[in-house]
Amino acid sequence: MQEKFNIVVVGAGLVGLTTALACAKKGASVCLLDKKSPSIKRDMRASAISASSFVLLKNLDVTELFEGNIQAIDNIFISDSQVGRKNKFNLQFQNSNNINYKGYMIDNSILKDALLKKVNKNPNISIKAPVKILEILRGSRAVKINLENSHIIEASLLAAADGKKSSLRKSADIGVQFTSYKQSAIVATIDHEFPHNGSAYQFFFPGGPLALLPLTKNRSSIVWSDTLSASNAAMSLNDTDFIDELSHRIRGLLGEIKLLGTRQSFPLNLQMAENYSANRLVLVGDAAHSIHPIAGQGLNMGFRDAAALADNVGRSIHEGIDLGGEVIKKYEKWRSFDNNLLCITTDLLNRLFSNKNSLLRFARRLGLNSVNHSELIKTFFIEEASGLTGDLPTLLSENI
Ligand SMILES: Cc1cc2nc3c(=O)[nH]c(=O)nc-3n(C[C@H](O)[C@H](O)[C@H](O)COP(=O)(O)OP(=O)(O)OC[C@H]3O[C@@H](n4cnc5c(N)ncnc54)[C@H](O)[C@@H]3O)c2cc1C
Repeated sequence: MQEKFNIVVVGAGLVGLTTALACAKKGASVCLLDKKSPSIKRDMRASAISASSFVLLKNLDVTELFEGNIQAIDNIFISDSQVGRKNKFNLQFQNSNNINYKGYMIDNSILKDALLKKVNKNPNISIKAPVKILEILRGSRAVKINLENSHIIEASLLAAADGKKSSLRKSADIGVQFTSYKQSAIVATIDHEFPHNGSAYQFFFPGGPLALLPLTKNRSSIVWSDTLSASNAAMSLNDTDFIDELSHRIRGLLGEIKLLGTRQSFPLNLQMAENYSANRLVLVGDAAHSIHPIAGQGLNMGFRDAAALADNVGRSIHEGIDLGGEVIKKYEKWRSFDNNLLCITTDLLNRLFSNKNSLLRFARRLGLNSVNHSELIKTFFIEEASGLTGDLPTLLSENI
């Protein structure tokens, strides 16, 4: 059996699913392939979704499936040390008349479910997962993919959304700049006694940042980054001891806490692809860039990749231009600069905060306190974090 599409997306993670929906919205026929079944729930993470990513999900009609499952972030508290209820934070963003941060938190499993439901219902998308890819041939006129059972997929363009260990990137000989942070992030969900009131907290410890991020129903998501040895030690604790250690670190900020579900640990590194394209191939999401979760931006970057690619694909289909041509270069130019800038910024942030140097600590606190006293600088940071500045793809615009 042989099938033809405009674009084939390999990888049905959060970015691959979104890329398929965005390209289909722009009129492309899409084939989405994954070696695993996307409905298996194993991700305990939750994601901070920026205002612009929320607009994208809204434009793809995904947010209508979030009813009651998405939590707005109304306040952000940042501390350069251990804090408790009575302690002061060095930097606070609280929504007011002047400052309005429109960010959200959502469990990855809920987000993925919603994206998958939309993909399954979309007549322009054919999803095949789990499926075994036997061979990918990127020729001068088309991409040909041989699947098991003599099934052949042909398309004009291949989008690699196969994650940070992307085999498509490797097979195209695209190199990466790689730095290990020698840190891991422990992710867990907790239930707590006191309401979070939509507040996100970030505590900077010498081993790495600890974030408490608000979820629906008196729950918060924990992202606890620390040195490899400290993370391994914390992962080896039983649930009761783990909760004791966590409570000690946050000093009763949310009252009594309870672990919901299991803990997961993620090794942290910075990885930047040297190119975003090769013959009839583009990289999107973590296949192109993988960053420290310190600023909660990795997925937001992937969403922008999806929307930027969809713009270029849509325009070319409309004008009858081959998708394997200038689409690729335009996409690469658009996204690589933005992404590399954010990769470097998060890298600097982690280096600045994850250390004990007393001079740096002094400078950091001075910086945080000065920002805290300037509404102008705060507004600047909020606008940058919302992702609503710069050259936006059309699907990130409220008025399409
Ligand atoms: C601890 C932590 C917290 C984070 N928090 C945030 C946050 O708050 N906000 C934010 O914006 N970002 C956050 N991120 C980043 C975000 O989670 C990632 O950027 C995002 O999940 C990447 O999605 P992806 O679809 O590109 O890759 P993946 O999720 O890795 O998906 C890749 C898919 O490709 C499939 N695949 C792989 N190889 C093949 C193959 N050969 N053939 C077919 N299919 C294949 C896999 O099965 C998988 O389904 C966080 C990251 C971490 C580690």
